[in-house]
Amino acid sequence: MDLLKTLVDKGLRRELPTRDEALAVLSTSDDDLLDVVAAAGKVRRKWFGRRVKLNYLVNLKSGLCPEDCSYCSQRLGSKAEILKYTWLKPEQAAAAAGAGVAGGAKRVCLVASGRGPTDRDVDRVSQTISAIKEQHADVEVCACLGLLSDGQAARLRDAGADAYNHNLNTSEATYGDICTTHEYADRVSTVQQAQAAGLSACSGLIAGMGESDEDLVDVVFALRELDPDSVPVNFLIPFEGTPLAAEWNLTPQRALRILAMVRFVCPDVEVRLAGGREVQLRSMQPLALHLANSIFLGDYLTSEGQAGQADLDMIADAGFEVEGAGETTLPTHRADVAAGGCGGGACGPCGDGGDGAAAAEAAEEAGVVEAPGAEAGESASGTPRQRSELVTVRRRGAGTEVPPNA
Ligand code: SF4
Repeated sequence: MDLLKTLVDKGLRRELPTRDEALAVLSTSDDDLLDVVAAAGKVRRKWFGRRVKLNYLVNLKSGLCPEDCSYCSQRLGSKAEILKYTWLKPEQAAAAAGAGVAGGAKRVCLVASGRGPTDRDVDRVSQTISAIKEQHADVEVCACLGLLSDGQAARLRDAGADAYNHNLNTSEATYGDICTTHEYADRVSTVQQAQAAGLSACSGLIAGMGESDEDLVDVVFALRELDPDSVPVNFLIPFEGTPLAAEWNLTPQRALRILAMVRFVCPDVEVRLAGGREVQLRSMQPLALHLANSIFLGDYLTSEGQAGQADLDMIADAGFEVEGAGETTLPTHRADVAAGGCGGGACGPCGDGGDGAAAAEAAEEAGVVEAPGAEAGESASGTPRQRSELVTVRRRGAGTEVPPNA
């Protein structure tokens, strides 16, 4: 297919495809799917070999958010029965992070729900970063605390943060459809503040929220323009109790096309397969490793992923290898933060929500509030269908007495 040959040639040269070429990837047929994966896989191997970077999420503060992001189980008014708890203590967060590092993660992503951190929150996170780095000097730490105010990015950098995550999530044109409490421009500004402070920027998207192909291409081109080091690609986890609970719009085939399009547009950037891979790609997850060079190990912020060991087995079975602590993630022509790589994602964002910071101060000193499950979906011959039974609310790890999944 001439399209794929053109895209491979451009990807190997780090040349931007046209919008029409990116759109064409999304409209390829299922008959061509393996050709699309193979073509984008060539670009992935050129810049990242067969390495897979592992990242580990620690939800520092869960639920209680005053923002209304419609995809998020932690949003204002969410009926999702997720864990709700206020800030973990530094030693609690360090213990959770340690489980991920022991499982092979080279980056820990510290996430807190809320619009953005107060200066007191930045102090707390700074103490947590110190606690983690005291025990794991080489681990990369990415903070994902929501919209930043003046000076906060520099304070996080000075505290030892390597990266900052804040996702664009969807196109500027449709941002108002998924959130009314802040704007797309706020998100762009926060990514730029992180970059200006010398933090490695991580910013990505969530697919499956009812967006068009044009929206997906818009947000990926906007990300290319912002030039983060890592781009997490989340697939919506339609949580019961959120406005998007019925939005089972993806098939595994479409999810793979989306990942391929992101790889062609951002050929030498860490593309992270993020939240929702289990529920939306399902048995097709290993094919996605030919497109993304980074994944989250274990669980997400408010939902459970597959067992950490299953992630490691999947990587080995598919012929890939876990990126070691001494290996550099990004190609040498890109600035590489921590001497071990850099990444996408989401940390933060992560399909099951989580950007932000401070919910009501009054709720801050509260303890863990338990709650039950949610849902997910599936497809049959190209037609998505509801699969809520696939979504499992996180009931282990940070904020619980149950050991983390890593
Ligand atoms: S995505 Fe972040 S800011 Fe939006 S509702 Fe969820 S926790 Fe709050």
